[in-house]
Amino acid sequence: MLSMVMTKTLITSWEDLPVPLAGSVDATEAAYLETIKQTGGLPFAVSSYFASLAGPDKTDPIRRQFLPNPAEALADPFALQDPLGEALHQAAPRLIHQYQDRALLLAGGTCAGYCRYCFRRMWINQPKHFISPVELIPALAYLKAHPEIRELLISGGDPLTAEDVRLAELFRALRDTRPGILLRLCTRVPITHPSRLTPETIRLLKAYRPLRMVIQSNHPRELAEPAQEVLTACVDQGIPVHVQTVLLRGINDDAEVLADLFRKCLDLGLSPYYLFQLDLAPGTAHFRVPLKTGLALYRELKERISGLGFPVYAVDLPGGGGKIPLHEGSIAGEWEDPRGTVYLLQGTHGKLWPYPADKNVHKELFL
Ligand SMILES: *Cc1c(COP(=O)(O)O)cnc(C)c1O
Repeated sequence: MLSMVMTKTLITSWEDLPVPLAGSVDATEAAYLETIKQTGGLPFAVSSYFASLAGPDKTDPIRRQFLPNPAEALADPFALQDPLGEALHQAAPRLIHQYQDRALLLAGGTCAGYCRYCFRRMWINQPKHFISPVELIPALAYLKAHPEIRELLISGGDPLTAEDVRLAELFRALRDTRPGILLRLCTRVPITHPSRLTPETIRLLKAYRPLRMVIQSNHPRELAEPAQEVLTACVDQGIPVHVQTVLLRGINDDAEVLADLFRKCLDLGLSPYYLFQLDLAPGTAHFRVPLKTGLALYRELKERISGLGFPVYAVDLPGGGGKIPLHEGSIAGEWEDPRGTVYLLQGTHGKLWPYPADKNVHKELFL
C-alpha cells in the first residue's frame, strides 16, 4: 500500500540495501527479517536515500533506526498495543481529540520507511491509504461543530507520502470548513526522503498557511545536505519548522550527540520542540532509555545548549494520560505492579500513571 511517490525509492528486502550495508546483515538479522514476514510484525522498509546515510557497523545510529533487530522479539510485559490510548479520544474516524484546543488527524496511510521504535505500528500494520474525501466528511463535521479546536495536527502514517494533488484536496477541504485553523504537518519525510519536497510541494504548503511543519530528527547525521536544503527552503518560504526527537538507547542517549543535533537545528533555523521518552509500543523495549538516565541526560544538556535549542523532555503517559513534561518531580513514587516495578508519574488532576522503573528496562540491548 505504498504510494506511487515512494515505490521507486523504497527498499523492502535487505538484499537491495547499498552494498556495504547489505554485506553487514548477519545470519541472525536475516533470519529475523524472515520471521517478521511470516508473523506480520512491523515490516522492514527504508528509503534508498536514508539507507545511504547509514554505515555498516551494528552500532551505527542510522542503521539501528531502520534495520530490524532480533531484540524486537523479546517479551515486554509493559507493552501496549495502543500505547497512547488514542482509541479513548477518538472523535470521528481518523480524528483524535484529546486536548481542548487541538486535534489530530490520521491522514497518511504509510511512511517513507518504518522506524523500528514506531509507536503507531498498529496503524502501519493494517493496510491503509491516504484519507479519502468521503472518509474526511465526519472529521470535517466534527471540526465545524468544535470551534474550540484551533489547531489540527496532520499525521498518520506520514502525510507527505501522498501525492501533491491529494494533499491539496485535503488542505482545501480543511480550509473551506475552518478557514483560520492552524495546520501542523507532522512528517519525517524531509529527513528520510527529502527529494519528495519539491519546490512545487513547498509552494503548496505555503499556500495553505497558517501551517507549521513538525519533523522528527534523532541524530545530527540525519541533517545531511539534502535534508538541510529542503528544510531551509521551507523556512525561507515562511513555513516554521519544529523538531521532535525520540530518546533512543544506543542511538542518541548521549548529551554531546543531542547537543550537536540541537545546535545544528538552531543553525538551520529549526526549533527543537520535544525530546520524547519512549512510548511502550510492542517490540521497542531495547530502545528504552531508563527514565532516571534520561533525566540526568537532560540536566547535562541544559548546561550545554542555548535555551533557544532546548526541547521539552516529555512522555505520553501510557494508556491515555496525555503528554507531560518530565522532571525529577514527575516521579511521585514506585509501585509493585504485577508486571514488575513501575514509577508512578504525576498526570493532570493528581492522577498517577505507571511507567516501567529503571530496574525493569531491558538488559539485552542489541544482539
Ligand atoms: C501530541 C498530541 C497533540 C499535540 O500536543 P502538543 O503538546 O501541542 O504538541 C495533540 N493531540 C494528540 C492526540 C497528541 O498525541
